[in-house]
Amino acid sequence: MKLSHYLMPTLRDVPAEAEIESHKLMLRAGLMRKLASGVYSYLPMGLRALRKAEKIVREEMDAHGGQELLMSALLPREDYEASGRWEVFGEDMFRLKDRNGRDFCLGPTHEEIFTNAVKATVKSYKQLPVTLYQIQTKYRDERRPRFGVIRSREFLMKDAYSFDRDTDGLDISYKQMYDAYRCIFDRMDMDYLIVDADSGAMGGSGSQEFMVKSDIGEDTIVYCSCGYCANEEKAQSVADVWNGDAAELEMEKIPTPNAKTIEEVSAFLNTDPRQFAKTLLYQADDKFVAVMVRGDREVNETKLKNHLGCLELALAEADDVVRITGAPVGFAGPVGLSIEVIADEEVAAMKNMAVGANEADMHIKNVNMGRDFTPAHVGDFRNAVAGDKCPKCGKELSTCRGIEVGHIFKLGTKYSDALGCVYLDENGKEQVMVMGCYGIGVTRCLAGIIEQHCDEKGIIWPMSVAPFHAVVVPVSHKDADQMALAEDIYNRLKAAGVEAALDDRPERPGVKFNDADLIGFPIRITVGRKSGEGIVEYKLRAEAEAVELTIDEAIAKTAELVKAAQ
Ligand code: ATP
Ligand code: MG
Repeated sequence: MKLSHYLMPTLRDVPAEAEIESHKLMLRAGLMRKLASGVYSYLPMGLRALRKAEKIVREEMDAHGGQELLMSALLPREDYEASGRWEVFGEDMFRLKDRNGRDFCLGPTHEEIFTNAVKATVKSYKQLPVTLYQIQTKYRDERRPRFGVIRSREFLMKDAYSFDRDTDGLDISYKQMYDAYRCIFDRMDMDYLIVDADSGAMGGSGSQEFMVKSDIGEDTIVYCSCGYCANEEKAQSVADVWNGDAAELEMEKIPTPNAKTIEEVSAFLNTDPRQFAKTLLYQADDKFVAVMVRGDREVNETKLKNHLGCLELALAEADDVVRITGAPVGFAGPVGLSIEVIADEEVAAMKNMAVGANEADMHIKNVNMGRDFTPAHVGDFRNAVAGDKCPKCGKELSTCRGIEVGHIFKLGTKYSDALGCVYLDENGKEQVMVMGCYGIGVTRCLAGIIEQHCDEKGIIWPMSVAPFHAVVVPVSHKDADQMALAEDIYNRLKAAGVEAALDDRPERPGVKFNDADLIGFPIRITVGRKSGEGIVEYKLRAEAEAVELTIDEAIAKTAELVKAAQ
């Protein structure tokens, strides 16, 4: 490709809307442009990279037993009614009506559609197992679109669905997808973790997320050197019991004026924050519950939501807190509370805890479970944090941040039951199919790759997803010999199977070099002063120094590197 007429509007300045490196670079390198919040257009260079990522996904899905098909993005309401998800998706779903007033949505994910398609076409055990996938645009009206294509409202997803006779079959299909995902993210040169994930309240017997390690990631990953690795939503730790053996003391109500934080209250009561139990009021659908965790802990809302089996969960509004506890926010406690109390196991094992008194500016010391209050349920409702003990081996846990690029999920019969997706077994008996679903955010992958492969000058594409493998840069566009030689090298590279670009723009060399670094071509061949002697400069984007090579050497080395990456 000759760059003189290529649509690659690079930007020198950092666009104000972009907070993170990948977003800035995708705009600055002219890969994409924003159309609306969370909606982007891919320009030629960006589309090339996207197609490369797509190709990797497709090749590995095919190699691991997937069959590609393509569903529509415009989907009728009825398909989502039977599973209840027309309701569940709420405001995240883009909804529209046709001219006859019939409801449609733009598909946020396709479990129901695939299930119905298989229900209509697969009748016998002889046709199973089957794993179907598509690479298709998804729509989600995200509450907070941000970070460019990491959380956008229109994005490209690979979604796959497996259909098996039984759970043993599902285990095999799931493992195949697990293997495919490892190949995909390895080929994209990502540094990732495979993390045990929450399977939600209703369905699923197992779920793992593929997380690209990144400080800007929205997910927290809890891991241990023994191999334990889980999303914070699900991660466990050994209960750290504080003061569990002490003799029970008399309850004592103590004024704590102007003490707002746990630290301030602890100072007042002259206790460690770990001697304190906080009581948080939540609204779960239509009911209110109080949740207790140790003073220095956070409530894990996923664990709580799974336990309650509710659709919506949020901290109670201030006026609800006042109505229920009789005190302003910050003074809730379990003693005499009228609503259901749920206690974390660390709270349950603690003696003589300090709690709010359900009265403004008052706390109670030496409260003991069983004697002074009785929770409806005791369990693990806290976040595991760095320094906690690993639930598997007891060593210290660590945490890091990650971007979820893929998710594999043993759905079981959640959708096949709801939609009646059955087959006839050897005995002619109807059985429900057992399903798995497997997603990859293809556009999010691009951003994830850039987050991990960039420097202050721009993107450093891995060869496998680079829009072009190499760029040939003549130093002076006014030098006809240089231009002719550059074009010759460019043609020879193409003939050798290299996806090459020729920077034949009438620009200063500095501009061309800066753009080459910003766009991140893995290899740059510069035709300059010594070109008359048959010498060019060969530079890898990932390395600081250039080397001088003969033209033949430079072409051979480039072709070699490209081949090695395929
Ligand atoms: P998240 O927790 O990040 O919202 P999710 O659990 O809703 O993701 P899935 O429904 O499992 O995501 O979708 C499969 C994949 O699609 C995710 O692993 C992610 O890579 C990608 N994805 C999901 N939502 C978005 C989005 N808004 N923008 C870009 N990619 C997305
Ligand atoms: Mg997910």
